[in-house]
Amino acid sequence: KQTQRLDKILSHMGVGTRSELKKMVKQGRIYVDGKVVKDSGIQVNPEINVIEVDGERIKYREMIYLMLHKPPGVVSATEDARDKTVLDLLRKEDRIFQPFPVGRLDKDTEGLLILTNDGPLAHELLSPRKHVPKTYEARVLGKVDAEDVKQFAAGLRLDDGYETMPAELALLGHEETDEGTVSLISLIIHEGKFHQVKRMFQAVGKRVLYLKRVAMGELKLASDLAIGSYRELTEEELNLLR
Ligand code: URA
Repeated sequence: KQTQRLDKILSHMGVGTRSELKKMVKQGRIYVDGKVVKDSGIQVNPEINVIEVDGERIKYREMIYLMLHKPPGVVSATEDARDKTVLDLLRKEDRIFQPFPVGRLDKDTEGLLILTNDGPLAHELLSPRKHVPKTYEARVLGKVDAEDVKQFAAGLRLDDGYETMPAELALLGHEETDEGTVSLISLIIHEGKFHQVKRMFQAVGKRVLYLKRVAMGELKLASDLAIGSYRELTEEELNLLR
């Protein structure tokens, strides 16, 4: 990684605008490698040089990769006039990198959502040609049976006439409730049409009551990540996506 202007690095990180940084330099608040900075335009290598602002070391990075355990009730958009968005769940120090959700989950869907500012990676993961598998767990009203498994594997026709790609449906169990039989299932799909999982079950006369995404590609939702919370991907997890 090459050197860059100090003010460029710090403004990118949201520390301040260029003119604010100039002022901060004048006030003697910025240090590089233990020495006070006199010119905000000096060249530094953020991966080698130690940058401090008001005595605090700045951890530099350009890219951010987050795993969010999306709760229901928030939309997977960067802004929304009415609803809370997944970005509202992020801390300010992470929001300044301008991450955006990779794909969408419905407002009522829970589970794994990746947020990043890495456009090319997001593009790869979402590319219809890549067929990155997405694994869901669901509670479905109705008795899911072997015939459904067969139909999901063969591909079925959605309400708009779209023929789905083969999908792997597995029955995890049944439960009797006041509403009738509820099936617990897991489903792997290799595409991501609008409301796809819900519409696939609708196509076989059943209704999704609860939906959670548990994996995207090889990346699994961390079991210790509480609903509504998030963390950075580890290096190993990131490698699973590349
Ligand atoms: N399929 C759906 O129907 N909803 C989602 O949120 C994700 C997949």
